[in-house]
Amino acid sequence: MEMKHRNTYEQLKSEMSRLASIRRVASLSHWDTQVMLPQHAAAERSKQSSAMAQLMHREFTKPEIGNWLFELIEAPEATFSQREWFNIKKLHRGFEHSIKLGEDIVRRRASLSSRGYSAWQKAKAENTFAQYSEVLKEWMDLIPEISAKLYPELSPYNARLEVYEEGLRLEQVEPQFQSLKLGLKRLLDMTLPKMDLVKPLPKNYYPVDQQIRVGHFLATALGFDLKRGRIDTSSHPFSMGIHPNDVRLTTRYSTDEIFYGIKSLVHECGHGMYEQGIPYELDPDMPSASTRGMVIHESQSLFWERMIYKSASFWEWFFPILQSHFSKELFGISPYEYYRSSNRVCPGFIRIDADELTYPLHILLRFELETELFSGKIKVTDLPEAWNAKSQELLGFTPPSLSLSVLQDVHWADGSFGYFPTYTLGAMVANQFFNKLRTTHPEVNDWIRSGQFQPILNWLRQNVHQEGALLEAPELIQKVCHENLSASHYLTYLEKKYLPMYGL
Ligand SMILES: [Zn+2]
Repeated sequence: MEMKHRNTYEQLKSEMSRLASIRRVASLSHWDTQVMLPQHAAAERSKQSSAMAQLMHREFTKPEIGNWLFELIEAPEATFSQREWFNIKKLHRGFEHSIKLGEDIVRRRASLSSRGYSAWQKAKAENTFAQYSEVLKEWMDLIPEISAKLYPELSPYNARLEVYEEGLRLEQVEPQFQSLKLGLKRLLDMTLPKMDLVKPLPKNYYPVDQQIRVGHFLATALGFDLKRGRIDTSSHPFSMGIHPNDVRLTTRYSTDEIFYGIKSLVHECGHGMYEQGIPYELDPDMPSASTRGMVIHESQSLFWERMIYKSASFWEWFFPILQSHFSKELFGISPYEYYRSSNRVCPGFIRIDADELTYPLHILLRFELETELFSGKIKVTDLPEAWNAKSQELLGFTPPSLSLSVLQDVHWADGSFGYFPTYTLGAMVANQFFNKLRTTHPEVNDWIRSGQFQPILNWLRQNVHQEGALLEAPELIQKVCHENLSASHYLTYLEKKYLPMYGL
């Protein structure tokens, strides 16, 4: 009997490997949509995406796959290793979900996702909400339909959180966000009156081709392998792990400053190095050989962005290098001065350019709007006005245009409601991971100061990446840090960093 189950598992594995190849071609097409697509090709691409989604769904829900999975899930657990059993459970659940979802919804979701992306691009360029809101309304019809099929036991917003991080619940997120909100308000009340103590980043003309050269140099120094990935530009920076040997990153550069284009690249590098570091060879193309949910994924990007790139030690190393490329533009500035400017606290309209103290407020704004949308308190058409009201309440200003408010992010266009909280939760995890690394290796700041990032990446590889998808986020955090996720650690980090910077 045991032999029979083993054979079935091997058959399943080889079929999953074939399906993984199809999925990768679909991902590549999704990357192309965001990076390379000619303007008039959007409608055709939308048809292609929905055909691919339909094909993948049909292949995965074939009766033989169902038969294998139903046999394996009933087999004695002891027949399999821990990883194999994880794969069986995960695939069984995925199969059940796909059957419940049905081909029609899968096709509609894919088509809406790619139509949504073009509608968002157009709306943002034209600063209009009406047409785009039609797409959002379609999402607000489709998403509850999907949630009711897959997660009938969860509230509408918890069903969204479940998509991005299994087991994550509103009831856990809300108290953390509440204490963060209070703590940040206190810190901002102290720092904002002293805002002028720190100068803004120097504006100048920084040619893009030179920024790209510096960006690629830094990406390689951090440990992103360009032989197993590539870097391009797109209007919204993102990363995509098509395969551990084919990881795509994008960033966007502006010519009047240099900090943010490289910052976005460092962020995406964090995602990319996580994708390149998964334990693929142990169990290729099976669920255990993948990354964890989005809280952990964001913890990896924000680890490099916040704990490394935005640290004083980093600029001791990197500023002279940047200066050697832009000697005229950055003349007469010291590394410490640049570090302070790059961390200047200043409430602004754009989330991805926000400083660390106001960034979580941008997330809270979106999180609160999403929960109100999913509880029925507000409607899609209320979003622009509700955005302005929240912005006033949390950040103290009303954005002057739709492009600077409700149209600034791509997420809702492709139905990614419930994603935003993962950024701030990810930042909290990143901080706790870094605290643990520093306790184990007190010399970590010397490594950063001398541009040695390999030992840091190795630590992440061993403690986080090599785990693959086996542990749920809270288990992984507990295993690495020996403590739970907590807003109070994050507030302590922010206090220690920002109060001295403002002479407090
Ligand atoms: Zn990210």
